[in-house]
Amino acid sequence: MSIDSQHIWHPYASAIDAAERFHVVSAEGIYLQLADGRRIIDGMSSWWSVIHGYNHPRLNTAAHKQLQAMSHVMFGGLTHTPAIELAKRLLALVPPNLQHIFYSDSGSVAVEVAMKMAIQFWHSQQKPAKHKFVTIRGGYHGDTWHAMSVCDPVTGMHSLFANSLPQQFFAPRPTSVYGGSWNPHDLDEMKLLLEHNHESIAACIIEPIVQGAGGMYFYHPQYLTELASLCKTYNILLIADEIATGFGRTGKLFACEHAKVKPDIMCIGKAITGGYMSFAATLCTQEIAHSISSYSPGVFMHGPTFMGNPLACAIACESIDMLVESNWQQTILAIESQLTKLLAPLQNHTSVADVRVLGAIGVVEMKKPVDMKIIQPLFVDHGVWVRPFGKLIYVMPPYCITSHELVRLTAAITTIVTEYSHAI
Ligand SMILES: *Cc1c(COP(=O)(O)O)cnc(C)c1O
Repeated sequence: MSIDSQHIWHPYASAIDAAERFHVVSAEGIYLQLADGRRIIDGMSSWWSVIHGYNHPRLNTAAHKQLQAMSHVMFGGLTHTPAIELAKRLLALVPPNLQHIFYSDSGSVAVEVAMKMAIQFWHSQQKPAKHKFVTIRGGYHGDTWHAMSVCDPVTGMHSLFANSLPQQFFAPRPTSVYGGSWNPHDLDEMKLLLEHNHESIAACIIEPIVQGAGGMYFYHPQYLTELASLCKTYNILLIADEIATGFGRTGKLFACEHAKVKPDIMCIGKAITGGYMSFAATLCTQEIAHSISSYSPGVFMHGPTFMGNPLACAIACESIDMLVESNWQQTILAIESQLTKLLAPLQNHTSVADVRVLGAIGVVEMKKPVDMKIIQPLFVDHGVWVRPFGKLIYVMPPYCITSHELVRLTAAITTIVTEYSHAI
C-alpha cells in the first residue's frame, strides 16, 4: 500500500502523515470485503449514495446492457434514450414546477450550475445587480469554488481561501430542531438581511431539513416554509440542495416535501445512480429556463464533457425504478424507529452531547471531536464502516440493511462510545 500512502491523495488528507487506509477488494449488499479477509458492514452508503447495496444484480445488468450499446457519447447536438428515460422518471418524482433538467457529473458541479442558472436568470430579467447568494450557517454544498463560498464559513475553511472566495450572505441556522417546538424568531435575522440586501441577491441556497456534512443537523420544516415565502416576497430564487437528502433518505422522496415547499431550482446527485457512478442533475422551472433562453446570449452557458453520460443515465433509471417499485417509505420508517430505539441509550452517556435520528440517518454528537486515528481502526475491528468527522459519529446505511445488521451496526457504535470514550 506504499504507492497509495506516498502518491495518492485521499479526501481531506495529508500527503505526508497518511492515516491508515483500508484496502477494499469487493463489495456485496451492505458489506465491504477488505484485502485482509475481514468483511465489514457499510454504515455510510459510501457517503449517502449506495442506497440499494453494492454489486446489485439489477444495477449490474442495466450497466452491462448499456455498455453493449455505448458507454458514452457527447451530449452537444446528440441525444440518447437513457437521458430521455431518466428525464421521464425524474419529472414524475420531483415537484411539478420543475420542468427543465441539466445533467452533470457531480454534486458540486450541479451546485455551480444552479448558481449560474440563478445569475443568468436575473441577467435575462435585466437585473444584473442580483448576483450574490444567501444561505444559513452550518451548510455544505460541495468543494468547488462557488459551492464552497456558500458552505459554512467556519467548517467550510473560508479563512484559508478568504482572499479569493466570493463573499456571500449568511444568516444563523435555525434553532428549532426537527420534531421540536417552533421558535418564531428563527427567521428574524434572515428577514433583516433580505430586507436590506435583496436587490443584490440572486438566490437563497439551502439543504432542505437536513444539513449534512456541515453538521448533521435536522431543522424544523416551518423554517423552510417561511424561508420559501420570504424568498417570494423579496424576489429571490430558492435553490434546494437535495444532493444528500434526495431519493428517500429522510423519509420523503425529497426533503422539501417535509415543508411542502417547491423550490425554483433543485440539485440532486449522490444516490441518483444507486452509488454506481458519479452523476448529478440541476432542475429548474419553466420560467427560469425560458427567461434564460429568451435573452442574449439565448443559451445556458454550461456544458460538461461527460454531460448526460449514457451509462450513468441507464443505471440511474434502474436505480429509480427499484426505489419506486419498493416499499421504501415503510423501509425508511422501520430503519428510523430501530435507529431511534437502539441509539437512545447513548443520550445519557457523559461523553455524548446529543443523539438524533431522521429517516435512515442516525447521529451521535460527542462533546469533543473524536480522534480519527484511534476511532477509525476501532470501528473496523468491530466489523463496521463508520467514518466520523469532528464531534459527529453518524450512519446512513443502505436501505437494504436488515434489522439484525442494524443491531450490529449500532452495537459497534455503542461499544466504542461507552467502552473507549477515554481513548477516542
Ligand atoms: C455531497 C454534497 C455535495 C457535493 O457533491 P459532490 O458529488 O461531492 O461534488 C453538495 N451538496 C450536498 C448537500 C452534499 O451532500
